[in-house]
Amino acid sequence: MSWSHTLPTGDLHDQMTILIGSAIRLLCGEAGVFVVSNEAFDPQSSSEYTLYRLSTSQLPLLLASVQEGVQPNSRHLLVTETLPAALVRQLGLGCDDYSERLDDAERCSLFVHDHAGVLGVLHYIRPRGACSCFEHSEEVQDTLQLFVTHLASGLRSALRSLALVKEQGRLAAIFEHSMEGILTVDNALRIIDFNPAMELLTGWSESEVLGRFYYEVLRPRDRQGNEVGLQGSPILQAFAGQTVVNREMIISTRDGQRFDVCVTASCVRSARGEPMNGILNVRDITREREEEEQRSRFISVISHELQTPIAIIKGYASTLARSDAVLDPEALRSRLTAVEEEADRLNKLVGNLLYASRIQAGGLQMEIVPLDLPPLIEGVVRRLQAKSPEVSVTLDLPANLPTVMADRDRIEEVLQNLLDNAVKYSPRQRSLTVACSVTGDEVIVNVSDSGMGISLRDQEHIFNRFHRASNGMTQSTAGAGLGLYICRAIVEAHGGHIWVESTLHEGSTFSFSLPRVEKAHLPMVVF
Ligand code: ADP
Repeated sequence: MSWSHTLPTGDLHDQMTILIGSAIRLLCGEAGVFVVSNEAFDPQSSSEYTLYRLSTSQLPLLLASVQEGVQPNSRHLLVTETLPAALVRQLGLGCDDYSERLDDAERCSLFVHDHAGVLGVLHYIRPRGACSCFEHSEEVQDTLQLFVTHLASGLRSALRSLALVKEQGRLAAIFEHSMEGILTVDNALRIIDFNPAMELLTGWSESEVLGRFYYEVLRPRDRQGNEVGLQGSPILQAFAGQTVVNREMIISTRDGQRFDVCVTASCVRSARGEPMNGILNVRDITREREEEEQRSRFISVISHELQTPIAIIKGYASTLARSDAVLDPEALRSRLTAVEEEADRLNKLVGNLLYASRIQAGGLQMEIVPLDLPPLIEGVVRRLQAKSPEVSVTLDLPANLPTVMADRDRIEEVLQNLLDNAVKYSPRQRSLTVACSVTGDEVIVNVSDSGMGISLRDQEHIFNRFHRASNGMTQSTAGAGLGLYICRAIVEAHGGHIWVESTLHEGSTFSFSLPRVEKAHLPMVVF
């Protein structure tokens, strides 16, 4: 039976009630309660006691009277005490619900134990002076002990079944709500349980995989992507007695995608030591992997981006500092300019790093006001052409471009970044276009180049921190992979979007949208 289908505990509670009721009846009682021996006894928890013809509201009164009286023990199994009239009234025992009148009643407490220990105490109420067949005999203690031993054996197995069902309920809850994927197989490696986390991870539903060979469903591979084969599969290794803990692997989803997981496999064995079931815990570590990759990308980018300008500055500075250096003014100026440019590059890198960490901490402050884009775009383009006269920029700005809601300085930074990239990654074709288009809600700014382009795979990641396209050209160009990350954060903080359309070796168009101050009143179309 699957862990997800637990046994109902109701049937077992009914069995306990029948057992307790029969015992009370045999002892001439009319009503009572069996209290399981447990130091942590909690009268609110129905699993710790079984009532017979008593309600939960009567229980505290009865138990309070028990506590005040003499307690039974293994030598004096049965203690009987007259119930005070006031308590009889409080308990409502004078009513006609019982077969015998209980106006004048006594409470008996029977100590229930066996060779393995104490099970609890059976408290029951009976008419005063009533006497069961177990108390008639000369040797009351022996007869009663025999009865208690039988009762204890029935109760012990009923309590054990209850404990097992509770245990199964706990396991089912862990199985159902675990964040980790869990699957179990039989000894032929066929899936018999597949929890919801596993369904979420793999895209398979439990009904689709039950009975299937687990290896075929997950198609496990090692970290390098090579198939591990049945012998190398984690559950079979656990069956063979090997330890499989936190092993990093790759498994496949229903639609064939692969992702990184960390698996732990274990084996449940029969008394003879043969494997009966295998359990596989599967943790998705895609995020951890990405973070790991990001950290190593960060370290390599930063070390490269810091080392290069520092080496250039140091090289020029030590040349200039040499006592025998004789440089004409032109050579001197070119070296000092190089030092200044490298210092600027360092400064920009440090600035971008601080910017990125501010974005991460959620500290991006905006001063959003109505803004006319054309003068802003023209200003940024003018500055670019002053710096790089060889670059030609075509402007395509519609007349009466609607005003947008934006922070002037931030949007200038976005545009400048996109234009700098367009120049940087278009080594041969230095003609760019900046165009704007309008929708009902937004103005869209497009920056197009005919440069190196970006592969589809890289397009998915270039807005992430420290991601640089994996082509030789990017590697030989200075950059820390922070510009587009910052652009995206700025645009999204305005409620806009940023995206790229690009073809490798042909060029790219980066676009971002900003909300209009006044939305267009478009005619409503009724279908
Ligand atoms: P950086 O330019 O400092 O590396 P960015 O975040 O600005 O960082 O860009 C991330 C990556 O996106 C770049 O490394 C580059 O590979 C790619 N990229 C950005 N703009 C362009 C472009 N116009 N053409 C081709 N590739 C680009």
